[in-house]
Amino acid sequence: MSTEAALNWLDEHEDDSIARLMEWLSMPSVGTDPSYDAQTRAAGQWAADHLRASGFDVELRETGTKDEPGHPIVMAHCPGDEEYKGPHVLFYGHYDVQPADPIELWESDPFTPVRKPAEGAVGERIVARGACDDKGQVMMFLEAMRAAFETMGVAGGGVKYTVMLEGEEESGSVNLENFVRDNVDELGTSDVCVISDTGMLGRGRLPLHMGFADWLIQRSPSLGLIRTCILVSGAARFRTRSMNWPRFCRSCGTMIGASRSQVSMTGSVS
Ligand SMILES: [Zn+2]
Repeated sequence: MSTEAALNWLDEHEDDSIARLMEWLSMPSVGTDPSYDAQTRAAGQWAADHLRASGFDVELRETGTKDEPGHPIVMAHCPGDEEYKGPHVLFYGHYDVQPADPIELWESDPFTPVRKPAEGAVGERIVARGACDDKGQVMMFLEAMRAAFETMGVAGGGVKYTVMLEGEEESGSVNLENFVRDNVDELGTSDVCVISDTGMLGRGRLPLHMGFADWLIQRSPSLGLIRTCILVSGAARFRTRSMNWPRFCRSCGTMIGASRSQVSMTGSVS
């Protein structure tokens, strides 16, 4: 029962993992286009089935109203080992993708994933709509959960997880706020939130993202969601979009912003 065993499993089953990702990428979950509603739901169901196969307790929860139904949210839980005393981890991602337009600019079909040499001849890359937003990133987590379950025999490798995957991120997460509000008892017990739906500066350049989902940052105090402020110091260079950030952490009052020498960040969502 070790992380190393899970990593070895991932190495040994890499082709299977990639094949699963290709299968998911081939599902055109264009959440903004009602003509793809069935395929969008199917992509959510696919992720739910994956998590269920990794030992999670999973539900596809409906969103929106009867007159204006939204895309479902995948909610999954695993309780952690009895002796587990670490943080309750909330993982967020999304299974919807941007429309493929303009289609004529694609070198290959956006929903027929292909492997191509990566820039700089360092390995390969997968080209498909959603490969880097957000199915590829979510798949890293899903396959890690599969490896943990396969090698350790317990969901999440004994860590307490809640997983929330939405299908409306590309539609402005129109139903997410109400969903969080309605399920705050369930979501609010988590200690940290892991999100893999941000940008990359480039290969080999580690980004640290601060400030996201303005509505969540601004309204979380009333929801009781944010309760940690992380301070990061160092001589770092950051690409900032600080105009969109609140000026102060509403949890602890620390000023939010970036300078050449110090960065303050709210971010740990529980
Ligand atoms: Zn995204």
